[in-house]
Amino acid sequence: MEEVRSPQEERSLGASEVLLRVMAVGVCRTDIHIMDGRFPQVKPPRVLGHEIAGIVKRVGKEVRRAEPGWRVTCDSVVGCGRCYFCRAGSRQFCTTGYEMGFTHDGGCQEWLIVPEENVYPVGDTISMEEAAILDMEVYAALKKSEIRTGDVVLIEGPGPAGLVASQIARILRARRVLLSGDSERRLETGKLLGVDRAIHIRKEDLGKAVREETEGRGADLVMDCAGTAESFRQALETVAPGGKVVLYGIYPDPLPQASVLPVILKNLVVYGALSDRKYWDEVIALVEAGRLNLKRLITHIFPLDEAAEAYAYTRDGRDGVVKVVLQP
Ligand SMILES: [Zn+2]
Ligand SMILES: [Zn+2]
Repeated sequence: MEEVRSPQEERSLGASEVLLRVMAVGVCRTDIHIMDGRFPQVKPPRVLGHEIAGIVKRVGKEVRRAEPGWRVTCDSVVGCGRCYFCRAGSRQFCTTGYEMGFTHDGGCQEWLIVPEENVYPVGDTISMEEAAILDMEVYAALKKSEIRTGDVVLIEGPGPAGLVASQIARILRARRVLLSGDSERRLETGKLLGVDRAIHIRKEDLGKAVREETEGRGADLVMDCAGTAESFRQALETVAPGGKVVLYGIYPDPLPQASVLPVILKNLVVYGALSDRKYWDEVIALVEAGRLNLKRLITHIFPLDEAAEAYAYTRDGRDGVVKVVLQP
């Protein structure tokens, strides 16, 4: 056991809590939005970091599942465990709950105390960096949208979420997976990860490309991981009548003059993305089986001392960055 003591570690462990030595924390675009003050519910000072992996060092006296030594990925969403939403498995809507890195301090520190139910063990073949970014939300969002065998799926935005979504769409039996965006390098990564067609939206007409791929009818499912006014408009434009749209990327600003008329006239189904906190074990299994590649997403690793630099890389898209991971 570590000799180092910190205020977090000194705080006595709750009966159902575990003490984590944080090993890796993913940097997310949402962190940048928080730093820019676009999440008014997050009040500084706040320790960032909602994509967390670590090693269980101690467990509370009523902990039954987790054990010291477990290498884990950590769900940042904590619920009270008793309210209507928590009992229904939707702790993300718990009104007295919190989220690490948002309304409660997150993973950018050496030690972290979290409820036992928030940690999921990963095998030795998964690095702590991969475990940190092993978010099941993309998987949950696509699972809920029920891709049918043979569907043509368009993923907008080749960032970390889009690059995971392209792989998940394939795993869920899409026939063709298209990936669109304006970063040559990230679209290349998409191709290496098995995307059938990467569409550069400044060089190609996205609507035309999607029509070519679908005998003119449009994509059966469009997932917007870009979260811009343009990608929102294009999602409603490129989806086939009767199709599905998953809104995943966070639109930091209200959408100017966005028309939702296609939702009505094309008889669309639109899905949100703040999903129930399940499927962790399924996603872990996919990474362990080598079917979901997270390694290729991690382009940069920084020690926590260089966090300012790490956030700057993400903010400015420096040096072909896809995903930055910090090591506390
Ligand atoms: Zn995030
Ligand atoms: Zn609750």
